[in-house]
Amino acid sequence: MPGQKLSYPGRNYLFCPGPTHIPQAVQNAMIVPQEDHRAPDFPELVKPLLRDVKKIFKTTKGTCFLFPATGTAGWEIALANTMSPGDKILTTRFGQFSHLWYELACRIGLEVDLVETPWGEGVPVDKFKKILQADKKHEIKAVVCCHNETATGVTSDIAAVGKMLKQIKHPALLMVDCVSSVASIDFRMDQWGVDVAVSGSQKGFMLPAGMAILAFSPRALAKRKTAKCARCFLDIQDHLNTNKDGFFPYTPSVPMLRGLRAAIDLILQEGLENTFTRHHRLAEGVRLAVKAWGLKTCAKSAKWHSDTVTAILVPENKNANEVIHIAYHKYNISLGAGLSKVAGKVFRIGHLGDNNEARMMAALGTVEMALLDAGIKIKPGSGVAAAGEYYRKTGKKIKKFAAPKAPAKKKAPAKKKATKRKATIK
Ligand SMILES: *Cc1c(COP(=O)(O)O)cnc(C)c1O
Repeated sequence: MPGQKLSYPGRNYLFCPGPTHIPQAVQNAMIVPQEDHRAPDFPELVKPLLRDVKKIFKTTKGTCFLFPATGTAGWEIALANTMSPGDKILTTRFGQFSHLWYELACRIGLEVDLVETPWGEGVPVDKFKKILQADKKHEIKAVVCCHNETATGVTSDIAAVGKMLKQIKHPALLMVDCVSSVASIDFRMDQWGVDVAVSGSQKGFMLPAGMAILAFSPRALAKRKTAKCARCFLDIQDHLNTNKDGFFPYTPSVPMLRGLRAAIDLILQEGLENTFTRHHRLAEGVRLAVKAWGLKTCAKSAKWHSDTVTAILVPENKNANEVIHIAYHKYNISLGAGLSKVAGKVFRIGHLGDNNEARMMAALGTVEMALLDAGIKIKPGSGVAAAGEYYRKTGKKIKKFAAPKAPAKKKAPAKKKATKRKATIK
């Protein structure tokens, strides 16, 4: 097809941090005939799904919502259902995604107190604390944070933000973008005191894009009664009215729901904690490779390192887009580009979702070729060696290989008989 990337032989491997590869079981689950979303047994799919998605957010008290939309709509759903025009919120910008949420808040009529943070760092909890402590009248209605800034490969300490809010007894809602963290990096909605968690389908949930996945705390849910921001398609009330019986207020994408069912089953089968450990290991290998290449991550210190995506700075006289261009056209893998402020300065390796050591080694080996082709002087094989060493040492324990024993030799037939027979033949 015109414009379609030929991916034969092999396939176009996705190492952009989203969309991610769809596991075969999820893909198979999505190949279904069109289904009647008002069928009497439809709730048998929907009700357990809405219940089980809560496990992924680690919430028992929260209410989950599935919207036929993307993460961007998720931000709007969070704000429009809890805020009124002119309400003040506090946020910080340290990458393209935290920037976009800030911009969306401004565009829907909120007043935004924006703290600028260097790109490569995370949520400045102390600065937030000072601002919130000075807000004696509690005019700040929400604190908005991006848990995992996908543009820079930075993970913030959301537990610390929740703890701080509790400590200073500020009633602002805590809203968190966990699009590229939930299901891959530990996220604890209830324990951390998160009021609205926003995610999407095409990252850790390993689905195509097209579903916004959210969780509201009881406190956030109650705000819909007083929130005056305009909303219709994105109104959670319509979902509450129909979800309670296992239906949706409009036509949902049923294949996506089937896919989500399969994805959640895979994640719960592996075990959430095991999923996090796997992501951490794969990420560590990538970081060791980056170090061995003599390059630096955009994340400015280890405490900000993201286990779902690594943004890698190229030397100042080089353009990261050339690496991405070569990787795509010559070797057929997709890397993440630098966005906005870091365009041309970084390329990103996504390591979330359906990945294992073998896939990461393929990514790292190919990135090495692209780096060398782009004239970036790294030692060939150095990254692959460093990651491989780490993966080997930390890999899963398997049963020792036991070579099958050679079958015992058959006893030679009794000599007497043989000679007799020979004699007869003669
Ligand atoms: C991918 C992503 C989003 C959502 O983007 P959509 O394209 O609207 O799905 C939001 N925030 C972060 C941190 C992301 O990585």
